[in-house]
Amino acid sequence: MADEFDYIIIGAGSAGSILANRLSAGDATVCLLEAGPPDRNPWIHIPAGFTRTLANPKVNWLFESEPSEGTAGRPVYVPRGKTLGGSSSINGHIYNRGQRMDYDSWAQEGNRGWGYADILPYFKRGERRIGGPEQTGDEDFHGRDGELPVTDIDGPEPICDAFIDGAVGIGIPRNDDYNGATQAGVGYFQRVIENGRRVSAARAFLHPVKHRPNLDIRTNAHTQRILFDGARAVGVLYKKGDQTIELRARQEIILSSGSVGSPQLLQISGVGPAALLKDLGVEVVHDLLRRESLAIYLDRGFGRNHDAVAGNILDRRANGGFGAVVSGGVEIINAEVDGFSNNLGGVFHGFPRPHAQSAVAATSQTGDADAQTGFA
Ligand SMILES: Cc1cc2nc3c(=O)[nH]c(=O)nc-3n(C[C@H](O)[C@H](O)[C@H](O)COP(=O)(O)OP(=O)(O)OC[C@H]3O[C@@H](n4cnc5c(N)ncnc54)[C@H](O)[C@@H]3O)c2cc1C
Repeated sequence: MADEFDYIIIGAGSAGSILANRLSAGDATVCLLEAGPPDRNPWIHIPAGFTRTLANPKVNWLFESEPSEGTAGRPVYVPRGKTLGGSSSINGHIYNRGQRMDYDSWAQEGNRGWGYADILPYFKRGERRIGGPEQTGDEDFHGRDGELPVTDIDGPEPICDAFIDGAVGIGIPRNDDYNGATQAGVGYFQRVIENGRRVSAARAFLHPVKHRPNLDIRTNAHTQRILFDGARAVGVLYKKGDQTIELRARQEIILSSGSVGSPQLLQISGVGPAALLKDLGVEVVHDLLRRESLAIYLDRGFGRNHDAVAGNILDRRANGGFGAVVSGGVEIINAEVDGFSNNLGGVFHGFPRPHAQSAVAATSQTGDADAQTGFA
């Protein structure tokens, strides 16, 4: 007989780790399935180590986009974490909640509970802000008692200070807390690094509770399909080695397999645009998700394909609804800034020294930041 749990969570990334923590805090039984291995690779935990995990298929799915017109016919590398902590185990460890406007527009589209005011208490509850600007209003946006440590860089860097001064000089407002009242402006990044180590979602939320008897964490467990009883999701099939194992959920199945993995798993389980599924020979359970929309982190830089990235962003922007964080060199930014003209948004990102990053998120015509540029 299949094992049964109250909740099954598919994917132990940023979302899955925190959900496993919160849902197993009471009596409910929770099974967390992760396709990747445990997060034992030492490069995960060293902040500069992401340069090693970015090309390691053991902890990274190493996806590529389909070639498109916007990328001059080339595929774009799409890294995604494949281990406990998911992408938070391989990412740039910058603490960035994203735009108020994005959450509010999701709520306006009918997604109740997703407005910025709705989710702010959850951000605060999970956060342990260390330091931070001593300014009125800090406590309106930041938590001090959560599991996720949020720190500032170790000290100002002259080159970053010069960059910030330069941005201010061309009219971009100084913003010492882009996770505060507004994201637009220029300032230093906040990081999820404590005592010289990355704090992934798994480190913050999963490892401290992994011995709870009602929490079952299964790694190298690749979910193949969600099982339905009519329109209700009731179980999953996952693969471990050459074994296929079935689990059943008494209450809910939570899909937190990331921006690529979640829609893919839904579609192969029969939930998606009916025409596409029929074309692929998948039996349709729900004709859903007709809207195609993906906001994704594009990372091309350090001298590779700058034009393609800039082109892609401009293309998406022209089609509306694309928010991007761009990594790379100055060339990208020039191309991007030219293209955005008045609608400017951009960031520089570089990591010659991982603790020395500064951020600028420039203001668009709506007054919100469109994109983000990191610089080092
Ligand atoms: C290289 C890189 C740099 C980034 N830098 C930053 C940054 O500096 N700051 C920032 O705020 N954000 C950054 N991001 C983005 C951020 O890390 C992600 O937005 C966030 O981690 C996504 O969380 P998630 O829970 O949706 O997905 P993920 O954290 O990706 O988790 C999904 C998990 O599901 C698992 N999974 C997928 N399919 C299956 C399946 N079929 N069965 C079982 N498990 C499955 C995956 O292996 C993975 O562990 C970066 C991302 C990348 C890739």
